[in-house]
Amino acid sequence: NTETDYELIGKNEMLPVYIPREKFSHKGTHGHGLIIGGSYGKMGAVHLASKACLHAGSGLVTAFVPKCGYTPLQTNFPEAMVLTDTDENHITKIDFTIDPTVIGIGVGLGKEASTVKALDEFLSANKKPLVIDADALNILSENKELLKKIPAQTVLTPHPKELERLIGKWKDDFDKLKKAKAFSKEYDCVLVIKGSHTITIYDDKGYVNTTGNPGMGTGGTGDVLTGMITGLIAQGYNPLNAAVFGVYLHGRAGDIAVEKTGYQALTASHVVDAIGLAFMDLF
Ligand code: AMP
Ligand code: MG
Repeated sequence: NTETDYELIGKNEMLPVYIPREKFSHKGTHGHGLIIGGSYGKMGAVHLASKACLHAGSGLVTAFVPKCGYTPLQTNFPEAMVLTDTDENHITKIDFTIDPTVIGIGVGLGKEASTVKALDEFLSANKKPLVIDADALNILSENKELLKKIPAQTVLTPHPKELERLIGKWKDDFDKLKKAKAFSKEYDCVLVIKGSHTITIYDDKGYVNTTGNPGMGTGGTGDVLTGMITGLIAQGYNPLNAAVFGVYLHGRAGDIAVEKTGYQALTASHVVDAIGLAFMDLF
């Protein structure tokens, strides 16, 4: 475990990472994000993540959800394509014929036994880049052998509780970062440690984010981040750049949105609506 080199991430660090749109590009070249998740009563998480995926620049987005998600998503979110599980309320078998560029999995997923089995089978067969969040992380924590099945450079986005389930309890912040780094190396994953200063860990580096605000401590903002990182990978950002840039833009979108809403009234939807302004604010 060699020294970790920490870098503060602001606009100047992100400008060289930004990939401009080419004049002759089209939806086929901007990638296709697939968001897998949702369960009865938690379909909003998939709506937010899928919308954030498109706003981050993915050419296409498909949501894969239990059947009960079909009508709300198709009614409220015309840009998204929707595929459904055979089960009404939970994901029980992840089966699709589309060819996505990247898959974001876990938001609103739940932890039913049939969902755990579906995730296991999915990970055994999957070859696509992955972003893993929320209950998919919790399932991995409870079934550590599944972690061996994730592709190289998978992006994991735990909040503090999800991180603790993944890496175990820590004594202090130094111990937390040490454990996080060892975990990232063991499974070759990009570990996004969410918090007021989100730190992304990969290899021997830590990227400390400087955007975001306490207004973002509200349900659904994490789902927005998952969708954004998925959307950036869809367009051609490598997983590490997508994670670091996604975290930066997500916080910046929150900072722009809060100017109009105030801290208390800020919601995850406001963050999604400000993603475009966060991109434009780079220049
Ligand atoms: P989740 O808990 O999964 O919904 O994720 C919450 C998201 O909001 C993460 O991206 C956090 O980094 C962000 N967030 C929550 N509280 C704050 C805060 N006080 N300052 C900055 N970002 C925050
Ligand atoms: Mg979350």
